[in-house]
Amino acid sequence: MPPSDRLASVPDDNLPGLTDTHCHLDLPAFDADRGEVMERARRAGLVRILIPGLDLPSSRRAADLAHSDPMLRFAPGVHPHESGGFTARVLDELRILARAPGAVAIGEIGLDYYRNLAPRVQQQEAFRAQLGLARELGLPAIVHIREAEEDALAILSAAGNGLRGVLHAFSGNPLLAERVPEMGFYFGIGGPITYAGSARLREVFHALPRDRILLETDAPYLPPEGNRGKRNEPALVLAVARKVAREGNQDALELVQTARRNANNLFAWE
Ligand SMILES: [Zn+2]
Repeated sequence: MPPSDRLASVPDDNLPGLTDTHCHLDLPAFDADRGEVMERARRAGLVRILIPGLDLPSSRRAADLAHSDPMLRFAPGVHPHESGGFTARVLDELRILARAPGAVAIGEIGLDYYRNLAPRVQQQEAFRAQLGLARELGLPAIVHIREAEEDALAILSAAGNGLRGVLHAFSGNPLLAERVPEMGFYFGIGGPITYAGSARLREVFHALPRDRILLETDAPYLPPEGNRGKRNEPALVLAVARKVAREGNQDALELVQTARRNANNLFAWE
């Protein structure tokens, strides 16, 4: 069937096979209506949502949620903002969570020198230790890098061959665009690519290898154009897929299926 016919058969408010590979569904922002948020996600065509942890309590909530609904998976991890409290005991707790059913990655982990909410040395230690855990368990890593590209690349390279993962919230940095695929990593693409000011990111995006693209929302943060200033939610990954496909003159269903296949390759969840 030609792409135009396939698209015509898909209603405007649904793209079957959508995956949100990064959604903080455990946060209190969803406490009042989490069930409705999930229902809207299903109606939009979502088949999988991955909830990364931000610290130990958040990782536990993510695990509990993942055990409550077959659409959900989770990743235990300590975010760079929270790495001031990272200890060997926390690492042991993460290891226990990572062996539980529904755990598909370690994350979200990384370096954030933009907000510097934890000392850089502690961010680096937590990042190294959790990459080590990912390697030990054979799980991919969900990585957050902000204004720390060179240090992060050095730590990732030192973590060695065989480590895989996703660079979440890819912002179009040319150094990362070049290095990420050869390191065995994928690019997480979300709301920011829909913003009027993101022409350069869209340009970089269209040159990325198609087999390394993942779709994500980072909800409740980073809502797509049209919803800025409001709470983001997984159903809005639909808007990201449509915008990216339109800009790239691509069949939206094909993009969604590619992203689903890529997520399945990385997280082994089908
Ligand atoms: Zn996040």
